[in-house]
Amino acid sequence: MAYDCIIIGGGLSGLTCGIKCAEDGLRTAVISSGMNSLHFSSGSIDVFGYRQGGGKVYRPFDYMKETAKSNPAHPYSRIGSRMVRESLEFFNDQISLAGISLHDNGDENHFRITGLGVMKPTYFSQDSVFNDKFKKAVEERASIAVLNFDGYRDYYAELTVSQLRKNPIFKRTGIITGKVTLPFYTRTEKNLHEFRSIDLARVFDTEKYLPRIAEEIKRAARGARVVSLPAFIGIDNFAQIHKRLEDLTGCLIYEIPSLPPSILGLRLDNALRSRFAALGGEYSGGDRVNGGEIMDGELDHIHTENYGDTRHRSRFYVMSTGSFFSAGLRSGFNMLDEPVLGLRFSGSNRRSDWYSAKFFDRKGHPFLKYGVETNKYFNPFGSDGKAVKNLFCTGAMLSGYDPIREGSGGGVAISTGYFAAKRIIGEMKKNK
Ligand SMILES: Cc1cc2nc3c(=O)[nH]c(=O)nc-3n(C[C@H](O)[C@H](O)[C@H](O)COP(=O)(O)OP(=O)(O)OC[C@H]3O[C@@H](n4cnc5c(N)ncnc54)[C@H](O)[C@@H]3O)c2cc1C
Repeated sequence: MAYDCIIIGGGLSGLTCGIKCAEDGLRTAVISSGMNSLHFSSGSIDVFGYRQGGGKVYRPFDYMKETAKSNPAHPYSRIGSRMVRESLEFFNDQISLAGISLHDNGDENHFRITGLGVMKPTYFSQDSVFNDKFKKAVEERASIAVLNFDGYRDYYAELTVSQLRKNPIFKRTGIITGKVTLPFYTRTEKNLHEFRSIDLARVFDTEKYLPRIAEEIKRAARGARVVSLPAFIGIDNFAQIHKRLEDLTGCLIYEIPSLPPSILGLRLDNALRSRFAALGGEYSGGDRVNGGEIMDGELDHIHTENYGDTRHRSRFYVMSTGSFFSAGLRSGFNMLDEPVLGLRFSGSNRRSDWYSAKFFDRKGHPFLKYGVETNKYFNPFGSDGKAVKNLFCTGAMLSGYDPIREGSGGGVAISTGYFAAKRIIGEMKKNK
């Protein structure tokens, strides 16, 4: 058998699982068909942001313990708060080995600022995202310049500011808006392609223009001590570039997540993939697993679009193909399923049950809790009703939690991926 573990889907969950398996010396492969949710996300990792009945969660691990009994089907309740915490520490260590420093407040959430100027609770953010360091500066009466780039059409600094002004934290803060003109802007004004987030981030990555950009930031900031920029400050080298910009301008600079492609998410994806490769994992991108055979309660093999009938075999498999967004779950007019293996699905087929008529319903939309049903070890059930013992499902494809209403997507993806890896490592050791 070529592999100890094949992971289907290379998002936050699959890659966390892959890194843990590869770190333990398992022969591990990831097969992934396309972009994952990180490319569309804020790049911050939410663990538990909102309480069931409404209101914010300040201490996510306490809330996990508090709700474990009343919500036993929740992935966190199955894993336990201690292992969720361990998985997040593992994630933080791995990301930092790839050169990205994450901000966390230990047991507490911090509050980041969205593009609309709303403050959202989250657990991990890149150091360059609004956190308690910036909040402290604001409380000490530092003024803020919320800046955009000339030619970037997907962000409105004025909108951010109008919302920030409603927040008591910023009541006594001087906030201005302004625009930074990149050195080559007038020459390329007609080429809109130059001004998507990824193109702008690449300009920062060259580092060539940094001194001139820093001058522009200082001009636009008009003496403000704190500067807010859309999150374009480089992809590969952003930590050094961020520091250099702060040194050159003398300002504290924080980043605001942009519309997709999300540079903050892209940095995490690159970091995870580079860790996986560094540990000897094999990543096969651009291929889709389109089926497999479950025999006697075990997944025997899988096959993919690119390799036709070739059977790929492994001792263990992990499915982390995401939710409806990433095609890990599928919906038809009046049907829902898991499309690769037809695993047992929890949710109603009746379309009218899927959503609430109120878009901002406090209870959330039912379909967000739908997904693959598993036992307590995250083994799914095949068509014969038996748990598939050598297959684990993790991340956004799981049922039993609502990533949006709870603000828990990133935390569930990481902790379930890590949990599956630990189970596999344990089983491999037993069978040696
Ligand atoms: C738009 C959006 C924004 C979000 N923002 C945040 C946020 O700011 N903070 C937060 O904590 N959470 C956020 N979440 C939730 C969180 O990002 C996700 O829950 C988490 O990243 C899911 O990770 P995953 O690995 O389970 O799935 P995904 O990231 O969806 O990855 C699944 C991968 O599997 C691949 N795949 C699918 N089917 C197959 C197949 N048959 N064969 C091979 N590969 C396949 C897909 O191409 C994809 O690469 C957001 C989610 C979405 C959709």
